[in-house]
Amino acid sequence: MDISVVIPLYNEEESLPELTDWIRRVMLQHQFSYEIILVDDGSNDASWKVIEALRLQHEEIIGIKFRRNYGKSAALNVGFNAAEGDVVITMDADLQDSPDEIPELYDRIKNQGADLVSGWKQKRYDPLTKTIPTKLFNAVTRSMSGIHNLHDFNCGLKAYRKDVVKSVEVYGEMHRYIPVLAKWAGFKKIQEQIVQHYPRKYGTTKFGPGRFVKGFLDLLSIFFVGKFGKRPMHFFGAIGVLSFLVGFVITCYLIFDKLMSIAHGSPYRNVTDQPLFYLSLVAILIGTQLFLTGFIAELVSRNASERNKYHIEKVI
Ligand code: UDP
Ligand code: MG
Repeated sequence: MDISVVIPLYNEEESLPELTDWIRRVMLQHQFSYEIILVDDGSNDASWKVIEALRLQHEEIIGIKFRRNYGKSAALNVGFNAAEGDVVITMDADLQDSPDEIPELYDRIKNQGADLVSGWKQKRYDPLTKTIPTKLFNAVTRSMSGIHNLHDFNCGLKAYRKDVVKSVEVYGEMHRYIPVLAKWAGFKKIQEQIVQHYPRKYGTTKFGPGRFVKGFLDLLSIFFVGKFGKRPMHFFGAIGVLSFLVGFVITCYLIFDKLMSIAHGSPYRNVTDQPLFYLSLVAILIGTQLFLTGFIAELVSRNASERNKYHIEKVI
């Protein structure tokens, strides 16, 4: 099969018939063999009824229904597991992304060797309260991930080589960072394509302003887990030992200072009268705690089932 289109959706009953019609038109025109995987993320409107009706009419349409709302990442994850096409394309269900982009996305993966092509909504139809924080978020993600050629990490419209979606695990709200996950899984050809964007036609956005806080925290954890997930001691241990050493050196100095003042018969002075004493105390305590945290994290990761999970590209 050429293409799997994976569509996560939550309460999008009005858009679905229009969207699937449009995709089918494009596929027919270019004679692709395809499937459309609609993942209903626990909608409480008539979305699932619509999907059932569509499924009866067209066998290319596959419906997956969650019992409750788990979030876009979960929906993508399940869609990725089910996908069978050589190229997997994700798009939002709200008609903001255009299926007309599919042929070019497919061509870039299939014939031009790209691993992942991410859409860039160069001209966006979203409110300013969303576009401005998004710019900031993208700049931070670019510099932290070293993927400098992407303007827009969180575009719903993306195309993947099948290997990519079978290698990355999207969970929590990590759908914003799939290109970063792909890079860490070892896929190098991550590219961008300028895509058409439309205003939301029906319904309202499913993400509140909390998205930016969550996005930022996810960014931190993704980098931490990516870099130190398999060797936490290198992070905690290093800072812990450093902090401990600073405290230790200061303590030695304080003792030396005290002995010298006794030897010279200077007037009596309490060690605790010096601010340095408190500094050394704090440094030693924090250092020990960080070290122990690293040690425990190391034990946890040793027992993790994925501790020896590596992505093997080929064996001959
Ligand atoms: N979505 C989902 N589960 C959720 C929230 C959103 O599957 O919990 C889907 C939603 O139906 C849409 C896509 O994710 O197909 C993008 O959501 P939305 O258009 O609301 O986001 P925005 O365009 O405002 O970023
Ligand atoms: Mg949208």
